[in-house]
Amino acid sequence: MAGPISLRVADLKQYAYCPRVVYYQYLMPVGKKTTFKMECGKSEELRIDRLEKRRKFHKYGLAEGKRLFHQGVSSDRLGLSGKIDMLIEKDGECFPVDFKFTSGRPHKNHVYQLCGYALILEDIYKKEISTGFVYLIPADDAVAFDLTHTLKEQALAMANEIRGMLLEKYMPPAVENRNKCIDCEYRNYCGDVF
Ligand code: SF4
Repeated sequence: MAGPISLRVADLKQYAYCPRVVYYQYLMPVGKKTTFKMECGKSEELRIDRLEKRRKFHKYGLAEGKRLFHQGVSSDRLGLSGKIDMLIEKDGECFPVDFKFTSGRPHKNHVYQLCGYALILEDIYKKEISTGFVYLIPADDAVAFDLTHTLKEQALAMANEIRGMLLEKYMPPAVENRNKCIDCEYRNYCGDVF
């Protein structure tokens, strides 16, 4: 029997930000606008890769560990795949780390992305992954998140919502918080917003 429709972990983050973004990406592939923030983010992530290789682990509350960069992970059972910016391994535990070029505290959508990685890692390693980090590039700081059972269940429910949207080819309404549209790479296509 075929497994669930394959999704990327990044889809969870995007869907939590605005469901319509995922609709565009899968059902109406359009030339998205590369924002200044995206360009900065890419070059800064490369810089952070280099710096992280030399850094100690205190930002993550760990005395030591092993870093794996840009690790591709997937689970056919969950129908999820992704590439983790950095994975820290320590005494049999794993901590996914996502690099973000964003100011202020990470948003809930970033936590769902970490939950997606944690769910895949749990499926691979058969152990619970209960903590993940968002590394805030501008602030040069790591924020820890408890990846609870409830959050993981919500992430899985969101994945099923996305699959439903893809099957029904249903275009979701525009996001309520229109501030989110200002920096959106799909803003040119949302005629009902702009
Ligand atoms: S412009 Fe706004 S409504 Fe349209 S996809 Fe982007 S965030 Fe969603």
